Amino acid sequence: MVVPFVSLEPMHREIREELDAAYARVLDRNQFINGEECRNFESEFADYCGVKHCVGVANGLDAIYLILRAIGITNNDEVIIPSNTFIATALAVSYCGATPVFVEPSIETYNLDASRIAEKITTRTKAIIAVHLQGCPADMDSIHAIACDYGLKVIEDAAQAHGAIYKGRHAGALSYAAAFSFYPGKNLGALGDGGCITTNSTEIAEKVRALGNYGSDYKYHHIYKGTNSRLDEMQAAFLRVKLRYLDTWNASRRAIAARYLLEINNPSVHLPILVNQDYGHIYHVFAVRCNRRDELESALSLKNIGTIKHYPIPLHLQQAYKDLHIPKESLPIAEEISRTILSIPIYYGMKREEVDYVIDSVNAFRLL
Ligand SMILES: *Cc1c(COP(=O)(O)O)cnc(C)c1O
Repeated sequence: MVVPFVSLEPMHREIREELDAAYARVLDRNQFINGEECRNFESEFADYCGVKHCVGVANGLDAIYLILRAIGITNNDEVIIPSNTFIATALAVSYCGATPVFVEPSIETYNLDASRIAEKITTRTKAIIAVHLQGCPADMDSIHAIACDYGLKVIEDAAQAHGAIYKGRHAGALSYAAAFSFYPGKNLGALGDGGCITTNSTEIAEKVRALGNYGSDYKYHHIYKGTNSRLDEMQAAFLRVKLRYLDTWNASRRAIAARYLLEINNPSVHLPILVNQDYGHIYHVFAVRCNRRDELESALSLKNIGTIKHYPIPLHLQQAYKDLHIPKESLPIAEEISRTILSIPIYYGMKREEVDYVIDSVNAFRLL
């Protein structure tokens, strides 16, 4: 049996006709940027998340960057981010001329450990980016409490959390403004790049929209030195089709995760924490930890099971961030996670036998 790390084929097979129709509709209408597909998607996704505004942009990185620009992050500012996240979270801060300040996650949830934020706050700190890593909402109440004490803005990097729920509210509605990515492999993915910003602030929505459209508020009138970052009509039309299935697809990931949590029982494989009812985890990835991670990886690879390390090198040890001069071992939890973590297959359309096979193969793994 071959089980790829992820396959988008089963999901796209089921909705093929609707995607074809969406493509034809856009082509026939002959408008490809700033048209009604994007506007409709924005209002549908805003409704889905339970916020007033959604603004489509070109990708998730831009979504974070544009929010930071809109809230005024600039040279010499500091922005707190988790020490284990995808590099986009940090790059968005760097693009503003600001410095990402890494705060360790909890080893249990992989998300920002709010109790460690205060010690990293300085007079230059302006904001905290809460990342809902792997589809698990961050500990928002604790993060907001600290932000409130120090007068900081909280924003979400919800690129892995479409449909995730925290205390009855959707990711995207848990902070001042949230960034989503529609990279094809995300839980809600386009057939190419895409992203959006959700917010209840009319001011931020308008500013982000202008910043992503050459800083223009109306045609050939430029109020900011903006950039070009727009969600095109074709991707918006595909996303409108896929949004209607998001909850079903997430439920199916959750069911696979529930089986993994129940049936994987190898003592050398550490399972992700069982989140309580406050957290609607949507398992963008299902990551286990193992002290002999590379051996587990090869054992699964020999059985034709795809795995990925999310992420093998923590950000402070990446060459791109050597200018921050953060020495090895200074962020031990991020380093421990990067040394031990391994994501196993989880995607809509995975067959029962494939899930059985992954479970049996992980359980059969023995340290040599
Ligand atoms: C995917 C991702 C991004 C970036 O999204 P792109 O659309 O690839 O630019 C940002 N943050 C996190 C946590 C991600 O997983």
